[in-house]
Amino acid sequence: MLSAGPISLHYGKHLALDGVSIGVDANETVVVLGANGAGKSSLLKALAGLARPAPSAQLHLDGKDLLGLPAHKFLELGIALVPEGRGIFGDLTVAENLELGAYTRHARPHEQRQRALVLDLFPRLAERQAQIARTMSGGEQQMLAIGRALMSCPRLLMLDEPSLGLAPIVTGELFQALGRIRQTGIALLVVEQNVKASLAIADRGYLMDAGRIVGTGTAEALRQDPAVQRAFLGAV
Ligand code: ATP
Repeated sequence: MLSAGPISLHYGKHLALDGVSIGVDANETVVVLGANGAGKSSLLKALAGLARPAPSAQLHLDGKDLLGLPAHKFLELGIALVPEGRGIFGDLTVAENLELGAYTRHARPHEQRQRALVLDLFPRLAERQAQIARTMSGGEQQMLAIGRALMSCPRLLMLDEPSLGLAPIVTGELFQALGRIRQTGIALLVVEQNVKASLAIADRGYLMDAGRIVGTGTAEALRQDPAVQRAFLGAV
C-alpha cells in the first residue's frame, strides 16, 4: 500500500534520514524501533507530508505519487499522523476536536459512522464529549488524538510515541485499543519506546540508527534478536 524510499532528509547541514526505504501493506501493523535521535519522528513526518525529503525520494500510496503534495492531501488520501505531543486543540471540547478530525472531503460523509467507531473504542471520550480537551488526563488526551485521527477515515494511521508519559495501566488500555483498530483493517505504523508492547501488536518492524534502517524482520524475529533484546528489552 505505502512504499517509500530512499528518503533522505536534512535539517540544515544535519542529515536526519539517510536513504530510508520502508513499506506498509494494507492491514499490516509495523513498528519502527530506534534510540533517541535515530530519525523515527522525522520519518513519520516525511511520510505524512510534513517534512520534505530530498527530491531523489519515492513515495507512493497504491501507486499514486505523493512526493511534493501538501500535507492536507496526504490526509485526504488516507495517511493520518498522531504526532508526539498529540497535537489536539486544547481549548476545544472533545466533541469539537473529533468534528475537526473529519474536515477532509473524503471523511465528511462518514462522520457519524467514524464517531460511533471512536466512541465505541474509547468509551471515556463518549462520557466526556463536552469536556475541554486540555483538562483531560494524558491518557485521555492520547485517546482523543487517536480518535481525531480516526475521524479522517485513514487507511494508514501513524503514531509517534503514543505511550510516552502514560502510566502502565493506561498504556495497556492504549495498546488494547490499537489492537482493536488493527482489527478494523486500518494499517498502523507505530514509533514506540515501549518495545515489548509494540512488538506484541506488530506483524513486522524496522530498526533505525543514525538516520538509517539497520535491521528489519517479523515481530517474532525482532523479539529474538540479541541486539534488540540488549538495546530495548533489558537483556544484558
Ligand atoms: P526521539 O525518540 O528522541 O524523538 P527520533 O528517532 O524520533 O528521536 P528525530 O526526532 O527524527 O529522532 O530526530 C533525528 C535527528 O534530527 C536528531 O538528531 C534531531 O536532533 C534532528 N532534528 C529533528 N528535528 C529537527 C529540526 N527541526 N531541526 C534540526 N534538527 C532536527
